[in-house]
Amino acid sequence: MMIVPACCRFWRRISLAILVLGICPTPVRAAEQQIAVKAERLFDGKSKTLLQNAVVLIQGDKIIDIGSNLAIPSGAQVIDLGDATLAPGFMDAHTHLTLDYSGDYNVRRLHELDLNVSEQAIRATTFARATVEAGFTTVRDLGSHLVGSREFVDVALRNSINKGLIVGPRMLVATKGIGAVGGHFDPTNGFRDFLFGREPDYTDGIATGPDEIRKAVRFEVKNGADVIKAAVSGGVLSLTDEVDTPQLTPAEMAALVDESHRLRKKVAVHCHGDQAAREAIEAGVDSIEHGSFLKPETLGRMKTKGTFLTPTLMATEWIMGRLENYPPALQAKAKAAAVARSEMFRNAVRMGVKISFGTDAAVFPHGQNAKEFKLMIDLGMTPVDALISATANDADLLGIAQKVGTLEKGKLADVIAMAGDPTADIEATERVVFVMKEGKVIRKGAPIVQGAAKARETTEEGAPAD
Ligand SMILES: [Zn+2]
Repeated sequence: MMIVPACCRFWRRISLAILVLGICPTPVRAAEQQIAVKAERLFDGKSKTLLQNAVVLIQGDKIIDIGSNLAIPSGAQVIDLGDATLAPGFMDAHTHLTLDYSGDYNVRRLHELDLNVSEQAIRATTFARATVEAGFTTVRDLGSHLVGSREFVDVALRNSINKGLIVGPRMLVATKGIGAVGGHFDPTNGFRDFLFGREPDYTDGIATGPDEIRKAVRFEVKNGADVIKAAVSGGVLSLTDEVDTPQLTPAEMAALVDESHRLRKKVAVHCHGDQAAREAIEAGVDSIEHGSFLKPETLGRMKTKGTFLTPTLMATEWIMGRLENYPPALQAKAKAAAVARSEMFRNAVRMGVKISFGTDAAVFPHGQNAKEFKLMIDLGMTPVDALISATANDADLLGIAQKVGTLEKGKLADVIAMAGDPTADIEATERVVFVMKEGKVIRKGAPIVQGAAKARETTEEGAPAD
């Protein structure tokens, strides 16, 4: 008699059961291991006080519990960070992860013409990694235009991060900024006429009249824009415009906002000048970026209408510290903007305008975004309010507050930790020791990749880095 092994008998019974009951065998996945992240303190993104002896319990990509001295389930992996403060992943509402403007202005301008777009895209992957390793798990990337190129490098970067091909922050991208002929976003500004063989058009974001503005918005959404960015006044780092003059008409701004909002996209506008800001606020934009010359009455309109201000203090700070890197015309514009923006920011804080944290990363080296916090505190903001601006406020502005921005049960597990207590020493925000994005640990301890730092070194030397 043939002896049938026990395991075979078992499988025969299972097969029979499947046959009789019509059960389709589906693989049973073991429950994902829970992770308990512990630290002495926790900032939850909305409370003005810190939670002590904090525990955040994570399973899969979500937070499943949170509390002080929370009981840790058996079998959970414990990450004890000790004298540190847990916080929601920081957000930066104004970056340019595909660009690096931090070196000498003219050297950078020349190398923009040298480097092929694929190489610039590869460099951008190191900028994305440096940003998330600094604790910024979400960015709103406000404009990615590589002169003479029709590529959408920011869309490619966002998609590659979402697919897990590269490591970086969650990105909401604007593709090419929309603006006027000869304005801040005109990529041929300052070059010899027709050097590139044609005038830029709506496919470059350059448009004239309400209908063309609508066409540019539709073109950008078609190609993957999550948010619409436009330049409604002049800028500091453009050669042929004045920093505070209006560059779109009220009718163009109305078309910009109407078309974007119909397509459920928010509108962020680069704007230093007061007149342009007043017109943009009345048109219904969602945020004013920079806002250097805004008068108190204009800030009052922002408060009434709920318009966010993204102050990007780091951008002027960086430029003012290295004025010799910029042509004389830009130096004069930077000085004027720097003098005006401090008073404007103090007024905005005092008046209670909604402030979204944003830095203009690319003007300075990527990964130094957290230096913005100290600048905000030095100009009158409280540490907790600055932390709220980089978490709950930005999530609100970006339209993703239901998923991220605070540490709460059911939200995505974007959790970071800083050594020390940022409410006592705001520069703790520059000492991020732990980064988790959607339940996956991206950094614990020293940065994993030094690529961005290396790229920066070559930039400082003037080598063909940017
Ligand atoms: Zn910018």
